[in-house]
Amino acid sequence: MGFFDRLKAGLAKTRERLLSAIPWGGNPEEVLEELETALLAADVGLRATEELLEALRASGRKDLKEAVKEKLVQMLEPEERRATLRRLGFKPQTPKAVEPKGHVVMVVGVNGVGKTTTVAKLGHYYRNLGKKVLLGAGDTFRAAGSAQLVEWAERLGLPVIQGQEGADPAALAFDAATARRARGYDLLLLDTAGRLHTKGGLMEELKKVKRAIHKADPGEPGEVWLVLDAVTGQNGLEQAKRFHEAVGLTGVIVTKLDGTAKGGVVVQVVEALKVPVRFIGVGEGPEDLQPFDPEAFVEALLE
Ligand code: GDP
Repeated sequence: MGFFDRLKAGLAKTRERLLSAIPWGGNPEEVLEELETALLAADVGLRATEELLEALRASGRKDLKEAVKEKLVQMLEPEERRATLRRLGFKPQTPKAVEPKGHVVMVVGVNGVGKTTTVAKLGHYYRNLGKKVLLGAGDTFRAAGSAQLVEWAERLGLPVIQGQEGADPAALAFDAATARRARGYDLLLLDTAGRLHTKGGLMEELKKVKRAIHKADPGEPGEVWLVLDAVTGQNGLEQAKRFHEAVGLTGVIVTKLDGTAKGGVVVQVVEALKVPVRFIGVGEGPEDLQPFDPEAFVEALLE
């Protein structure tokens, strides 16, 4: 299956909500009303939905679907905010590769969001781009979490650094970052813990992990990516803000978009955190992680 077909299939539930519920060719007021309901149901969020509807009304445009696409793409690109985005005959292409800064990507998120699976998928992705990849099983609080990553590593044929169960996660992070440098790997993808006794404890622990990486390899981690589960929708946003405050996110990965009609939450993530979405998860297999491309995403939702 090609990139775009996979994306479309992965977004089928949200797509159904946005596409089928709206009488696109009908009376504009009616379209806008149905659109408002559908956007809210898809977890685009109140603020973004209002911004979008206002822009549509102000534009007086008749080609409402195209106008929605343009505005959505704009809202999904916090860094670029391109002026004119869409052109007729847009053909989705496999997006540009996501090139991480530095050599260490620290992957954070609460348990159950798909963090460990995502680290494995990222390993597969970057190895296929020709990079020498090392995985770090930094979720040492959870034997199952660490074992799961090791299993993935074996299946994908990727090397992995793991510690004893209950080992200090910062020490494991230090070892993994040191090993990456010493052995000349291009990239360390480090899984981290997603739950401790208290949430405050988790944030403190993650800060320690980040400092340990820096100690082993100054300037690293170049990236800190948060994994968010689309199925939990906007409930994940508060969580995301706390991670951002604690460890300074440089990107977000939204998983399980295939499992929900609330894929609009991606818009809220970008709006709330002002941090770019780097990848999206549209299934459980190693190929089901795609670089996030706003135009392709919107096209897959609405075309
Ligand atoms: P963790 O606790 O955050 O490390 O979560 P796991 O990596 O163990 O994943 C939890 C479950 O979510 C597993 O069954 C994964 O296969 C599943 N999962 C992860 N990403 C996706 C995705 O993009 N789509 C779907 N449908 N399932 C996913």
